[in-house]
Amino acid sequence: MAQYTGVPVSPGRVIGTIRSMAPPVAEPPAKEALPEGADREAEASRIPAAASAVQATLGRLAERAQGEARKILEATAQMAADPSLTQTAQGLVHSGGKTPERAVWEAGDQVATMLEGLGGYMAERATDVRDVRARIVAELRGEQAPGIPESEEPFVLTAIDLAPADTATLDPERVIALITSDGGPQSHTAILARQLGLPAIVAAKSIHEFADGTEVFVDAGLGTITDEVTEEHQHFAEAWAELQRNPLTYEGGGGVLGDGTRVRLLANIGGAKDAAAAAAANADGVGLFRTEFLFLDREDEPGVEEQTAAYAEAFTHFPGKKVVVRTIDAGADKPLPFLTDAEEPNPALGVRAYRTSWEKRSVLTNQLDAIAAAAQSSDVKAWVMAPMIATVTETEDFVSLCRERGLEPAGIMVETPAAAVTADRHLGACDFASIGTNDLTQYTMAADRQLGSLAHLNNPWQPSVLALVKATCDGARTAGGDPEAFGESANKPVGVCGEAAGDPGLAVVLVGLGVNSLSMTPRSLPAVAKVLSTVTLDQARELADRAVAARTAEDAVSAVRAGLPILGELGL
Ligand code: PEP
Ligand code: MG
Repeated sequence: MAQYTGVPVSPGRVIGTIRSMAPPVAEPPAKEALPEGADREAEASRIPAAASAVQATLGRLAERAQGEARKILEATAQMAADPSLTQTAQGLVHSGGKTPERAVWEAGDQVATMLEGLGGYMAERATDVRDVRARIVAELRGEQAPGIPESEEPFVLTAIDLAPADTATLDPERVIALITSDGGPQSHTAILARQLGLPAIVAAKSIHEFADGTEVFVDAGLGTITDEVTEEHQHFAEAWAELQRNPLTYEGGGGVLGDGTRVRLLANIGGAKDAAAAAAANADGVGLFRTEFLFLDREDEPGVEEQTAAYAEAFTHFPGKKVVVRTIDAGADKPLPFLTDAEEPNPALGVRAYRTSWEKRSVLTNQLDAIAAAAQSSDVKAWVMAPMIATVTETEDFVSLCRERGLEPAGIMVETPAAAVTADRHLGACDFASIGTNDLTQYTMAADRQLGSLAHLNNPWQPSVLALVKATCDGARTAGGDPEAFGESANKPVGVCGEAAGDPGLAVVLVGLGVNSLSMTPRSLPAVAKVLSTVTLDQARELADRAVAARTAEDAVSAVRAGLPILGELGL
């Protein structure tokens, strides 16, 4: 028997058969040519035949897909039928004596480069051309198509990591769990899995030791995969399957602990579309509005009017409710050409987030003007916070910019250990704090959140990270303040808006540490609300003490799970 461990990123327990993602298609050697006297006509004619086969496969996948994925697949299928690629490739066989594989490879490059030269929408299609090219080459070689394997039976997908295009073809009806050997808890793959509610484990380095076809039990709450499937595992998997048939629901109104203590349950959004989904999921408001999505892929700063309209549109979904708007968080994993320096040697430790306002003040002040205008024209309770604050001077500066515009409450994100350990002084200078556990973990552990190789460090269950969450909550108590201010039942409210807030076991710990609101992807709301309802505040505090006192992140997970039987009962 073998058991491998990775970092759990989206809970669930399943039994299934391993199917691994096909490796990327290797480039045919540049000098690959047809032998002397080969029938070039016959060889060239294999190209349109292979392209038609690819088109048919993509068409079949498109029929089974929904929404955005369907559109992407339909567009890619059309690309396979486009004669410009196949005719160029056939020409290279005829005139240059290239093999069909090499000819398709080169023709794909030519078409993609041409599209890139056209810029804009056409340039974005270049990636599709390269994808189609790889599929045609695989077809010509009789290899498995790159990407997610086709299977009528549900399976456990294993991969090194997923590319954004692969995620479009990921059908949650067939893929019942996702395990990658690379990728971190904040990777694209992890975020997608959480959005889909798909059990997922990342950074399971040895997962490829399991051969295709091996039956395994996946515990994505713990992060383990084993090929010894026991009767107990069957029960766990049945509980999870039952949860899928009868999903938990969340009626809104916040989380209520077993003793009646209330915890605000909010949603993370990136724009108006997400806001609509969050409102439909009964979120009590928005705990993190990531505004930089409006700025990404832009050469220039969007104007104040455009920004105002975008914020106001998102606000319409939460009348009378709290919406916490985070000011622009550019740099590191979110570079912006007009604001950040792409040449910095260590961008995560560079001039990012709030720090960009030191040199280019107007980007922040324009944004605050737009938020103030949008808030005025709507009836949300707009809260504003700055990311990546380290010193109290920065907090004071940000708060004064907000006050000048009548923006209240004004707060900070606690993402640096510096802010966590001086939280009393920060909260003396501002109205609230929201802990960004994704960045707080990367800075506490000195581990780049984008590196799969450091995923085991980038785990918010690390006792050192939990100790800093506790330090922040203790700081808020010391800072005092009006318990009724801004309608929160805490002196100076402290929320969590990093991915940790959507992990039901960790949510209990965070509440036990003193956090009074949790903001997450809307899909996580029902499970978090359900698990919170099974503990009293005293029990949550005791579990939090155990987690902070644990030797390792793994010990913290085990200690808390042992005290939360509901997680096992639900298959989480
Ligand atoms: C965080 O760091 O936890 C956070 C919520 O911000 P982001 O993930 O956008 O950096
Ligand atoms: Mg952050």
